[in-house]
Amino acid sequence: MTDTKQCRQCGTCCRKGGPALSREDLDLVRQGYIRHDQLVTIRQGEMGYNPATGKLEPVPVELLKIRGQGNGWTCLFLAEANNGCTIYAHRPTTCRILECRQPEALLATIYQNTLRRADLVNPNDPILAEIDRHERACPGKEFTDLLADTGQDSLVRLNEMIRADLAIRNEVAHKAGISLELEFFLFGRPLFKQLTGSGIECVEENGEIRLERQNSPRPLVGEGSGERVHER
Ligand code: SF4
Repeated sequence: MTDTKQCRQCGTCCRKGGPALSREDLDLVRQGYIRHDQLVTIRQGEMGYNPATGKLEPVPVELLKIRGQGNGWTCLFLAEANNGCTIYAHRPTTCRILECRQPEALLATIYQNTLRRADLVNPNDPILAEIDRHERACPGKEFTDLLADTGQDSLVRLNEMIRADLAIRNEVAHKAGISLELEFFLFGRPLFKQLTGSGIECVEENGEIRLERQNSPRPLVGEGSGERVHER
């Protein structure tokens, strides 16, 4: 009889994307097994993949996920050579719960008890004020709603938000000297990268950003980590 609980170490789950962390994973970060710059924030209201529905949809709560490798979503900790997990003894709760052929237990935990940025930053750290400023300047839900709006006014507001997003990232990076990887934890994925598949293209010309609607939207793909369009 086949043991459905036995992991065949095919790596398929780990290639679909790094796990979202739960509050039970707090010590993994506190003890340094997972660093802040190995995480990417999916902000509340932004589009994210829901394994329960198999669709991209606005996430109802903030999520912290293990970053992908390069521009893809394959978990940073997957060793391609042998499909091994390089933090196996200290892997997140989601990875411990998952039985790929019986995913019900894992699916029941989606969006429950999630770890947030505020859980991982010292309450006295001034960076919290920058995270708050960024949230107010470009809320994830408003951004997602605007992407679905075909009016010309929505393009104007999207342009404002994308510029504000880049300006805050640039300012904080200059002031605090943070890496691009840490920026993904602090402010999530750059908004211009999230235009992928929306039918809106972000064009940079003479240092100015312009948004244009495309006739045929490109298929939705994972955005992964992206290059900066702003100088550093
Ligand atoms: S942490 Fe390890 S087990 Fe979990 S998705 Fe990444 S490589 Fe796979």
